[in-house]
Amino acid sequence: MKAALADGAVLAVEPYLDHVPRWVENELQCLAAPFRGASVVHVNATAVGGGVAEILQRLVPLQRGLGLDAHWFAIDGDADFFRTTKKVHNALQGQEQTISPAEWDHYLEVNRANLAEHEAVFRRADFVIVHDPQPAALLTLLGQPSGRWAWRCHIDLSNPQRGTWRYLRDLVNPYGASVFSLAAFARRLDHPQVVIPPAIDPLTEKNRPLDEGAVKEVCRGFGIRFDLPLFVQVSRFDRFKDPLGVVAAFRLLRRHREATLVLAGGGASDDPEGQEVLAEVRRATADDRDVLVLELPPDANLEVNALQRAATVIVQKSLREGFGLVVTEGLWKGKPVIGGAVGGITLQVRDGFTGYLVRTVEGCAYRMRQCLRHPNRARTMGKRGTELVRGHYLITRQLRDSLVLLTLLRGGTTAGQAARLN
Ligand code: UDP
Repeated sequence: MKAALADGAVLAVEPYLDHVPRWVENELQCLAAPFRGASVVHVNATAVGGGVAEILQRLVPLQRGLGLDAHWFAIDGDADFFRTTKKVHNALQGQEQTISPAEWDHYLEVNRANLAEHEAVFRRADFVIVHDPQPAALLTLLGQPSGRWAWRCHIDLSNPQRGTWRYLRDLVNPYGASVFSLAAFARRLDHPQVVIPPAIDPLTEKNRPLDEGAVKEVCRGFGIRFDLPLFVQVSRFDRFKDPLGVVAAFRLLRRHREATLVLAGGGASDDPEGQEVLAEVRRATADDRDVLVLELPPDANLEVNALQRAATVIVQKSLREGFGLVVTEGLWKGKPVIGGAVGGITLQVRDGFTGYLVRTVEGCAYRMRQCLRHPNRARTMGKRGTELVRGHYLITRQLRDSLVLLTLLRGGTTAGQAARLN
């Protein structure tokens, strides 16, 4: 297990007050007061790539800025481990998968090795927040249930494959609480369940304002035409993000309108399927000059920012989605978003208000066309999106919720005592 963040990474709340009311700082200081000096350890699967790393890169330094002794570790695993955990991820999001006893054994083995390396850290920690299934076995392997541990699930658990969920549930039950992005993901568990949607940081290179010159320079570098409407989907190349569905919708649109589609994405070190899906997308679009498939390095934050700002419409046609930070990023930039009517996207895309929710390729094509036909309506939806994000999905709100979670965990809830949500 590696520390995923330099010890000196600390962020103050003050600069965020340009975006949120001043009382937010006071509220955060009050909530943080009982936890000054308390050690909070986050564990996830990867230091770069994907939404969880995106959040922890900012949340942990902000927790430190409020006086918490916060740390973040990324679990180490070999290729077999991450192949298995990707299958677990897919099964939890409803895909048919078979995970053999040997694969589960190896999963436990890797968790055990990670725990052994840092057992003292976990035993000493005041609070431990374990993100997603990859490190979920740590607490069971430690050998004692703890009300001070929370399992933070970022994935779409609305319809999990039962066998895989049952296995994971037994690992999660000894925790003090579980946290989901959406109430619809709550499961039958022996402890309290808390809903905390993720959020974006408006001050990062990915989300800060960019002038038109900088946006154009990035687009020019990618060979994007300026005279056509631009649809952009930024995502890991993952089947749940349905890149081929976006291409199919775009082709239906193009029967009526000329336009450009950009599918931009990189990998995450815990996602072994990315290259395979990228190759499929490249094959499907090889002879299509209006579709640009861009493979981006994990630190291409300026590029993502510019692409999202250059877009006429942001698309996120996911088939399953825990939350969809890219939707938040697009809305924050004042863009209407056409999103799959699943998971966390439904929190953010209010149909006809901040964008459109779609269920089919045809529906997506229809809404793409409608956004181009009614540019004023599209612009208004984008403006509402910015305000929706300001009110609900900026990181100061997530920081507050993370402190409320510690308050709940400190209350000493132990597995078995707790209220059931369903
Ligand atoms: N992202 C990125 N480069 C890429 C693909 C994605 O920086 O090539 C970022 C994206 O901007 C967002 C996060 O990774 O901040 C993806 O989070 P989301 O919740 O949308 O999806 P996840 O990958 O966690 O399923």
